[in-house]
Amino acid sequence: MSAVVETTPKALKPPVDPASLTHQQLLEGDFWRRIPAYRDVDEATFLDHHWQAKNTITRVDKLLAAIQGLVPQSFIDDAASGFDTAPMAVRVSPYLLSLIDWNDPYADPLRIQFIPMRSRMLPDHPKVGFDSLAEQADAPVPGLTHRYRDKALFLAIDTCPVYCRFCTRSYAVGPDTFVEKVNLKPKKDRWEQIFAYIASRPELEDIVVSGGDSYQLRAEWIREIGDRLLNLPNIRRIRFASKGLAVMPQKVLTDDDWFRAVVDTAALGRRLHKQVAFHTHFNHPNEISSITQRALNRLFEEGVVVRNQAVLLRDVNDREETMALLVKRLGHVNVQPYYVYVHDLVKGVEDLRTTVQRALDIEKYVRGSTAGFNTPTFVVDAPGGGGKRNAHSFEHYDRKTGISVYTAPSVKPGRFFCYFDPIDQLPPEGQARWADPAEHEKMLAEAVTAAGG
Ligand SMILES: *Cc1c(COP(=O)(O)O)cnc(C)c1O
Ligand code: SF4
Repeated sequence: MSAVVETTPKALKPPVDPASLTHQQLLEGDFWRRIPAYRDVDEATFLDHHWQAKNTITRVDKLLAAIQGLVPQSFIDDAASGFDTAPMAVRVSPYLLSLIDWNDPYADPLRIQFIPMRSRMLPDHPKVGFDSLAEQADAPVPGLTHRYRDKALFLAIDTCPVYCRFCTRSYAVGPDTFVEKVNLKPKKDRWEQIFAYIASRPELEDIVVSGGDSYQLRAEWIREIGDRLLNLPNIRRIRFASKGLAVMPQKVLTDDDWFRAVVDTAALGRRLHKQVAFHTHFNHPNEISSITQRALNRLFEEGVVVRNQAVLLRDVNDREETMALLVKRLGHVNVQPYYVYVHDLVKGVEDLRTTVQRALDIEKYVRGSTAGFNTPTFVVDAPGGGGKRNAHSFEHYDRKTGISVYTAPSVKPGRFFCYFDPIDQLPPEGQARWADPAEHEKMLAEAVTAAGG
């Protein structure tokens, strides 16, 4: 390829056809009426967060009842078998169900995230385990992970408004499946231990309140956590993490107690000159509808900062154009794209993972497509507790074995952390080596040596 150096501008860019600005085109109207079970549901009902919560689907027979006639029986059988073998319990809101294209459910990016299909599952990578981020190993008290020097992760509650198949915390989040979960109930005595630990650590400035999901915290709990943390002299920043905006924006619109608790906590932060932000989790542009925009407008008008953390998911957002559209659409509704995570090494969802190379390609494409401050950082959360690393900052990456090696000098100096691409995406040579257990440790040792270890 020869490089072309342009010295004089040829022509100004012609204006684009406004119809091509798809990031601005949000789904409107009573789209939920496409679902047989919601045909007679009016807008006020559909926007009612109680109704959304009450009609959330947790059993395959309920799913079947809701989408009767839209899918063949073979799909339902496949889903039923998927429900039985998934590490996460299943929980899908009517809103999510309405956003799925039931004419093509196997390919739908929302179906892929929330409804497991037995026929699509792949064997786990031999290096996949529960709690691959070793969050429990870095927890001085149950439900508080203090990994980085100045920030910590507070797991306040163990439930979510929906359950994502790919949850990193399948070791704790949701009801027991075949996995017996670590107990992180919203117990006051557990929280007291956490507040006491945070108060005892002058270096801690920044607390991520997560779970589970902050959406599930009652209004008075949001206020209590906010007041307690913001009034600690060492704390400068807190964030509430919630998938909720992406799966049930109705709560922001109609749960006024909860909404006021979030807004008042953000206002308290401003009075104390401390930052309070909301971190959410949109993965696909279809998750942002006109209802989402109304919810985000309500938060924006109150000055609540919202950022997004997405997960890179195979067949959901692992194409350059899809990710670029997600990023632009987030910016359009005043959400700042913050991170895109390379999928953690989680059990039972190998079909959702993709390679570090895919992340690098998408990162390259997205950079330059919009404002720099709306351009997400692509990260690998290094398995074993190395923390988040820029995806492209590996010390070594062998595309044949799919092993990338990272270091984390300010988090765990002197150690090497390996991430593993899914085996089915490797070239035949790499697949053959993983098929032979005697090769596993050899491949690891080679990679760490090549990384300088
Ligand atoms: C992600 C994370 C944080 C926050 O990290 P940022 O890079 O500031 O978003 C804090 N603690 C733990 C354990 C985390 O996983
Ligand atoms: S909302 Fe977050 S914590 Fe809850 S299941 Fe999904 S990924 Fe896990």
